[in-house]
Amino acid sequence: MKKYDVVIAGGGAVGAACAYFLSRDTDLKIALIDLKKPGNASRASAGGLWAIGESVGLGCGVIFFKTLSKLHSEAQGKEVPVMRPHQLPDCFFEFALTSNNMYPALHQEMLEKHDVDFKFERTGLKFIMYNEEDRLYAEQITQGIPHLADQVRWLDAEQLKKEEPYVTDDAIGAIDFICDHQVNPYRLVDAYLEGARQNGVSLYLNTEVTSVIRNGNVVEGVKTSDEVFFCDTLINASGAWANELYQQATGRTMPVYPVKGQIVLSERMPKIMNGCISTSDCYIAQKDNGEILIGSSTEEKGFDTTNSLDKIQELSQGAMKCLPILKESSIKRCWAGLRPGTPDELPILGPVEGVEGYLNACGHFRTGILTSAITGQLMTELIMGKTPSLDLTPFSVERFEEAEQKAG
Ligand SMILES: Cc1cc2nc3c(=O)[nH]c(=O)nc-3n(C[C@H](O)[C@H](O)[C@H](O)COP(=O)(O)OP(=O)(O)OC[C@H]3O[C@@H](n4cnc5c(N)ncnc54)[C@H](O)[C@@H]3O)c2cc1C
Repeated sequence: MKKYDVVIAGGGAVGAACAYFLSRDTDLKIALIDLKKPGNASRASAGGLWAIGESVGLGCGVIFFKTLSKLHSEAQGKEVPVMRPHQLPDCFFEFALTSNNMYPALHQEMLEKHDVDFKFERTGLKFIMYNEEDRLYAEQITQGIPHLADQVRWLDAEQLKKEEPYVTDDAIGAIDFICDHQVNPYRLVDAYLEGARQNGVSLYLNTEVTSVIRNGNVVEGVKTSDEVFFCDTLINASGAWANELYQQATGRTMPVYPVKGQIVLSERMPKIMNGCISTSDCYIAQKDNGEILIGSSTEEKGFDTTNSLDKIQELSQGAMKCLPILKESSIKRCWAGLRPGTPDELPILGPVEGVEGYLNACGHFRTGILTSAITGQLMTELIMGKTPSLDLTPFSVERFEEAEQKAG
């Protein structure tokens, strides 16, 4: 039997960030338990810190929205409707932008204190416009975020060509979100874990939490296949699988489910991109080692993590349309990951009414790399008994029960 102050179930970006911030800011005895299940989202991700881009429906969001409108129109047998930006609520902007602002200092801190480099790069995110419809879409986006006007640059075709010479001559311009950046997601998770390990966190990797120990309304710990871990607080950071542990901890269910995303990666290329790119077909990011990452599909297919030719072809075609030079590249590999989706696309954070010793840190859907830092900080504040620096009400699990009651 082991006893910890805090046990974290799940060691993706979110669980690892919780371990890092808690161990940095407290003297608590902490364990992180992770079984890297197939489809682990953090290691499948693109590593975009696209705080504005994702909040206004670009990056992963544009594909998501397009898929939804297509499914919708197919169901009714009508034309695909004109796309409108899929903007998340203000609370999400604040959450995403606060997290985004943490990365420059976190990168320095990880380098200096822990000798790990998660390859933070200031890239911007350009939405490339091919036609009038794209321009209208871009205008609608910027009209929806007047308070962020200083973070948006409009580029005409000539300026775009200067900044991204390999973008197709068919592009009529772009909008660039200058505060959106990128990291290497593998290295980010490894950096959090290594920092946490150096700070004294016990890491139980390749280990599954098989059940939650509950005594009435109090969560007392977890079991793995061969050990028992007692704790004062259990943090559920188990990604797309979070509902399983939630059910055991609370006797209720919450709507966290897997949303599959496929990605194509090219072999290394000379530097052909100066920043990250989103189009209405895909997003494209050149990583620090020269590989080009093209993402990503949005599919609700349970825990399936296979790659399908149709999605890989769609993504590749979208990327070659934007950057014709990619016709000369070869595919290194493709993969699929499982985003922890929620119905309103907002994460589920914090305590659960009537349950002691338990915190949710899950449901980060398509931005859990970006928002891992603020999640780690908020969980640390909660465990230290401080008032969280951001209002967690919009992210509480109770919002789904309230919505159900209203609907009923
Ligand atoms: C294709 C794709 C592209 C993406 N691109 C971006 C991007 O550019 N930027 C961005 O910010 N986000 C992106 N995302 C989203 C991001 O990856 C996720 O939001 C984030 O990784 C979620 O992190 P997590 O730690 O909650 O989940 P995960 O990374 O899935 O980690 C959860 C961990 O818990 C483990 N686990 C589950 N159950 C148990 C158990 N019972 N016992 C022990 N361990 C358990 C799992 O195996 C896993 O290792 C992308 C996602 C996908 C799929």
